[in-house]
Amino acid sequence: MAGVSYPYPYEAKVSQTLFDRASLVTPGGVNSPVRAFRAVGGTPRFMVSGTGPYLTDADGREYVDLVCSWGPMILGHAHPAVVEAIQAAVVRGTSFGTPGEGEVALAEEIVARIEPVEQVRLVSSGTEATMSAIRLARGFTGRAKIVKFAGCYHGHVDSLLAAAGSGLATFALPDTPGVTGAQAGDTIVLPYNDLEAVRAAFAAHPGEIACVITEAAPGNMGVVPPGEGFNQGLADLCRANGALYISDEVMTGFRTSRAGWYGVDGVKPDLMTFGKVMGGGFPAAAFGGRADVMGHLAPAGPVYQAGTLSGNPIATAAGLAQLRLLDGAAYEKVDAVSARIQGLVTEALTKEGVAHRLQTASNMFSVFFTEDEVRDYDDAKKQEAFRFNGFFHSMLSQGVYLPPSAFESWFVSTAHDEKAIERIAAALPAAARAAAEATA
Ligand SMILES: *Cc1c(COP(=O)(O)O)cnc(C)c1O
Repeated sequence: MAGVSYPYPYEAKVSQTLFDRASLVTPGGVNSPVRAFRAVGGTPRFMVSGTGPYLTDADGREYVDLVCSWGPMILGHAHPAVVEAIQAAVVRGTSFGTPGEGEVALAEEIVARIEPVEQVRLVSSGTEATMSAIRLARGFTGRAKIVKFAGCYHGHVDSLLAAAGSGLATFALPDTPGVTGAQAGDTIVLPYNDLEAVRAAFAAHPGEIACVITEAAPGNMGVVPPGEGFNQGLADLCRANGALYISDEVMTGFRTSRAGWYGVDGVKPDLMTFGKVMGGGFPAAAFGGRADVMGHLAPAGPVYQAGTLSGNPIATAAGLAQLRLLDGAAYEKVDAVSARIQGLVTEALTKEGVAHRLQTASNMFSVFFTEDEVRDYDDAKKQEAFRFNGFFHSMLSQGVYLPPSAFESWFVSTAHDEKAIERIAAALPAAARAAAEATA
């Protein structure tokens, strides 16, 4: 952001030059908004390569990566076995527009891991997955309205880009220009972790609600795990009211356990959505669930859904190679790395007397600059987010790349070894001091 100053000046000359060039030909200089560093200020780093837990930027600086491409790179960057699978696939041709065995193998892997998924359809992004799941839910139930929760992100689907002021069964106003009242008008936005609000919405709109969609364990307002019984309560309310329960596992799927968040809480959804980890760093995503519901999709049924690059052979090869490496030992490693880093962050912030709270969903975690429990989006917004900027830039200047926002999960990988963790540990004391000294 122009004019933002931060206490750790350091050179990012080549990145700045690239950002200047990018800003001429691309809105805001980026292809996805949070990459632009607007929340934290400064020059977004243009990365040129990644290996294991490290990223290297265009100025030749190396960072320990705690973003992992927002989740997908759970084995670290350029894992040799994944690279090998990709190389083998590339030379066979890059897209056929026909069915292929890779898609079958990836679908079988997903179905084998996640019991509620009887059938699955592959798409190219998490956005497509949630958009298609909502269309299917509406087509299956013949109902129009959908329920989502404030602070849950499901990609940039028009009808899901609606948040609302708090309040019971508030009809959403569009969150962004370009989404019409008609597109958002059937979306009911409720406070997260509030089963009473969901019960009231069903009571107020009998026979009208097609589905409830929720992040299985939200990570897009920072990490705000479901309270005891919340997901089960959603599933029960949906069943009792003839609506479908859609669990969005684009972020948590294949990350929080072998079977994603379903593997943690065992609550059975009607439909689920996946992305991120399952693509191995390529655009591959999916939605799936009950066979009787999925059977309504074209060409088996009347609900249309399609994609030129759906089930792309390179993407499916990368995803399958990654999933096959994600065994019990891999998840133990990711969990252990996450716990180590959480401990180091807590220690450093406590030492500097910074009010903070770590919240976790399995190995996903985020740091809130508040002492109070964060149970929903309103709570999340109450944190002292201004403390994050100094913290972030201090870490960046010391070679640790954090998500450039106080409202994002941190992600680790199996590749985060002792050396990488030591660099994080060495950077944290100064970053904690920067957080302590920050002023609003
Ligand atoms: C990232 C994400 C999406 C959107 O996925 P894209 O591939 O960016 O379109 C949807 N839902 C959740 C929970 C996500 O974290």
